[in-house]
Amino acid sequence: MTDSSYDLVVLGGGSGGYAAALRAAELGRTVAIVEQDLLGGTCLHRGCVPTKALLHTAEVADGVRRAAAVGVNATLDGIDLSASLAWREKLVQGKHRGLSSLVKARGITVVSGRGTLTSVDGRPAIDVSGDRLVGTDVVIATGASSRTIPGIELGQKILDSESALALDEVPRRAVILGGGVIGVEFASAWRSLGAEVTIVEALDNLIANEDPSSRDALEKAYRRRGIALELGARVTAAEQSDDGVTVSIDRDGEARTLDADVVLVAVGRGPVTNGLGLAEAGIEIDRGFVSVDESLRTNAPHVWAVGDIVAGPQLAHRGFRHGIFVAETIAGENPSPLDDSLFPRVTYSTPEVASVGSTEPQAIAAHGADRIVTREVSLAGNAKSEIVSAGSESRAGFAKVVALADGPILGVHLVGERVGELITEGQLAVAWEARADDLAPLIHAHPSQSEALGEAFLALAGSPLHTL
Ligand code: NAD
Repeated sequence: MTDSSYDLVVLGGGSGGYAAALRAAELGRTVAIVEQDLLGGTCLHRGCVPTKALLHTAEVADGVRRAAAVGVNATLDGIDLSASLAWREKLVQGKHRGLSSLVKARGITVVSGRGTLTSVDGRPAIDVSGDRLVGTDVVIATGASSRTIPGIELGQKILDSESALALDEVPRRAVILGGGVIGVEFASAWRSLGAEVTIVEALDNLIANEDPSSRDALEKAYRRRGIALELGARVTAAEQSDDGVTVSIDRDGEARTLDADVVLVAVGRGPVTNGLGLAEAGIEIDRGFVSVDESLRTNAPHVWAVGDIVAGPQLAHRGFRHGIFVAETIAGENPSPLDDSLFPRVTYSTPEVASVGSTEPQAIAAHGADRIVTREVSLAGNAKSEIVSAGSESRAGFAKVVALADGPILGVHLVGERVGELITEGQLAVAWEARADDLAPLIHAHPSQSEALGEAFLALAGSPLHTL
């Protein structure tokens, strides 16, 4: 048993934890990360990165199917999902090597093993198999894990997103429980790869947190793509047999069964805060999440929490921001305050859905309907959108801007192919509290999809160019 001391000890090497460590080291602190698996965490190894790669395999398959629409002769001879998997694994390994080198180059110590919070002479510390890493400060960044539905056990043909990513064959029929971001992204990928897909969602809409216009557009596009939607449906059972899984659902009192080769359970992810010594250290936990103040301090001195264990949107880039924020606060800097509504949100489906700031109902609830103005510009008239979505079943989308009348832009909502890359402009507009008439003179490149957003700003400023 040995004790060692650092300025900062981080428990968990995912997006939130490694960002805190990198920034603290950059600010001249001695830093250790304790990680039980691999640096990079869920996002790099089991989440964002491999999922986006799977979605790219799906996009390429769609591109081949749509090739004739733009004069390219090509036929889709099949999907080799094990080749896609091998490519994705290599890609992730490369990113992991890059991250490990960066962490090493910043002089950060990485300790492998499962850590728990303890204290040594009144200072917080992380215990790893009896060795104690004592910190002037400790950051807890243990992330989240898949939830399931009571009575439905994961295993064999009932998958969580991690085991769904590891499939080496495309399922013929898939039922997805949960129409949130994970459910919608897998539905998109599997459908493009040739599966019959049904989404069962307890609420009346897919991606329920998004603006009603975005939810409606995605649902319409999915129906056109042949993705079956069971909305407002309750799952009552899922029985595995040699042939697959039978899912029982209940919708408005009407019981039905759905047969599938695999079932993906995507009903949310819960914070990982049990068994880490947090409660024993007197840290306040509320419904599984660590309670923090506006600077991400827990109620225990010099113990901080970042990322998915802090209630709010579960996004890798929120974890990055949290980590940077805590490292700077510890270093005595005064980082600008955190605001959950300013993290851009992108659902990487076909079509993509992207947003930042308030939805229209949120803006109305906050300011009153008579003070809110909105403008929705269809991508149907946008030349670049028409070019890149040639032959697509999901069709055009829109750019929608929500603003205070004679005031700043409060929210930006986009639906369409590749629109995720455009949300940064929306983020700048909302975060800098820009007004439409500030932005209207900044004309957008032609032809580009961003012109739809530019047109919405022009229209809100009273000078639409391509719309009435
Ligand atoms: P989610 O909370 O986004 O969606 C879960 C959905 O499951 C909800 O719509 C909920 O109503 C539904 N649901 C819950 N219980 C149900 C039941 N018994 N029957 C039917 N439906 C049920 O969660 P998720 O999709 O699992 O994603 C987890 C987290 O990871 C989310 O916070 C998400 O934002 C994040 N994530 C983000 C991205 C991205 O930014 N692109 C990608 C993947 C995951």
